[in-house]
Amino acid sequence: MNDVDVIVVGAGGGGLAAALAAHDAGASVAVLEKLDRPGGNTGLSTGSIPGAGTRWQKDAGIDDDPGRFADDLLRQSGPHEAEELTRLLARVSAPVVEWLVDRHGVELLLITDYKHVGHSVPRLHAPAARKGQVLVDDLVRACGDAGIEIVLNNPVASLIVEDGAVRGVRVDGDRIGSYDLRADAVVLAANGYAANPELVRAWAPDIAGATYFGGHGSTGEAIEWGIALGARTGNLGAYQGYAAVAYPHGSIVSWTTVEMGGVMLDHDGRRLGDETLGYSGFAETVLRGTEPPAYVVFDTRIRDYVAAHEEEFRDLLEAGGVREFATADALAEWIGAPAGNVRSTLDDYRSSVAAGRDAFGRSAFGMAPLTSPYVACRSTPGLFHTQGGLAVDGDARPTREDGSVVPGLYAVGGVAAGISGRSGGRGYSSGSGLLAAVGLGHLAGAAAGAAATG
Ligand SMILES: Cc1cc2nc3c(=O)[nH]c(=O)nc-3n(C[C@H](O)[C@H](O)[C@H](O)COP(=O)(O)OP(=O)(O)OC[C@H]3O[C@@H](n4cnc5c(N)ncnc54)[C@H](O)[C@@H]3O)c2cc1C
Repeated sequence: MNDVDVIVVGAGGGGLAAALAAHDAGASVAVLEKLDRPGGNTGLSTGSIPGAGTRWQKDAGIDDDPGRFADDLLRQSGPHEAEELTRLLARVSAPVVEWLVDRHGVELLLITDYKHVGHSVPRLHAPAARKGQVLVDDLVRACGDAGIEIVLNNPVASLIVEDGAVRGVRVDGDRIGSYDLRADAVVLAANGYAANPELVRAWAPDIAGATYFGGHGSTGEAIEWGIALGARTGNLGAYQGYAAVAYPHGSIVSWTTVEMGGVMLDHDGRRLGDETLGYSGFAETVLRGTEPPAYVVFDTRIRDYVAAHEEEFRDLLEAGGVREFATADALAEWIGAPAGNVRSTLDDYRSSVAAGRDAFGRSAFGMAPLTSPYVACRSTPGLFHTQGGLAVDGDARPTREDGSVVPGLYAVGGVAAGISGRSGGRGYSSGSGLLAAVGLGHLAGAAAGAAATG
């Protein structure tokens, strides 16, 4: 006898989207969350979800379609183990964004004032405040409207498996004790393993040692349950890094500062590489290239441009995380670097901008050359989330080597194999984390709901 039709493990973007889709398909749903609040990494993100071919793009005169989106993603990621999933998520991206807005009243607006990493046209849709918490609040409200229960402080400890099929979960927590909950289907929406240093060392060693800036719940157990049931993994070593998290403030230093012409320096006042690798790809360069902190250096024109467009950057300014220096020597003194190093770094950069290319291969310089007064932020490289996990089919069901699926089991978001390349941080395109969460969440919820009620 089942307690509900569908159990969702994890109340982040993927889990809440799966719950709504399963409910839309007519199923009864319970969401179990191990922490004392919903949201996970989704709540810490900027809430930006790509949709290729949405009506808001059409209204803005942007020519886009799933084929173009998939080409963009694959160009950024390179070849990997889930290319079919890339094409599938590109196809469902616009319908899923429109479903969230139209059916569930989620606030998502097309972002046109910022060129996102990996995208040839504007296609990310985010809350006006660009805060993932707004997205989470909307999804939680929509679940409430639908009568879906989200049970907090209820960590799932294991799956109930009978005759090779998943039939529910065992919850085991300090506050709640231990109990079983039975269902036709279990959707694993517990995110990846970035909060588990042991798994990061084993599966994504090139980013081990970077400070983790995501939610505490992402400890990887759901991926291990799938592996124990024979599921294949895909792209296990891929992740989203971030090259410049403000130190010690802990918020991101907007990458627009770099795209508009900023550079990153080590504590000797030397550049570390081609910053246009992107905020994720460059994280490993910073991690390997210098002891923290590193320094993002730009100028007051770039500061003012970014502040005019990005609330989180304005918050960092107000918190004192962005400093201004009249001269290169004053900047060098603050960094603690020899003044000659900083001067020659900025001079070389000026020559590179004039030549159109620098020694690292950078050829996009935004508003550079940089001019005094200079501006700088102290920063440290971070790990935001992991992108690898269980290989899934078109209904988000984990698959085995022989192509069979684990009956009753679904995996979405950070639990599933991502679409950002085989390993490392360079293949990550903005929005791919939430696309895998809400895109696969929608597919899993719809399939699990239909199977349970049909
Ligand atoms: C600072 C930052 C900025 C980002 N910006 C973006 C962005 O703008 N766009 C984008 O696409 N991606 C972004 N990302 C990545 C994105 O946040 C994640 O890829 C995405 O939120 C993953 O969604 P999810 O539903 O899989 O996991 P989450 O949102 O983390 O939700 C998983 C939930 O499962 C819970 N859980 C875990 N284990 C259990 C268990 N055993 N039992 C019960 N519950 C459990 C967790 O506590 C958590 O609440 C960002 C990440 C960070 C850290």
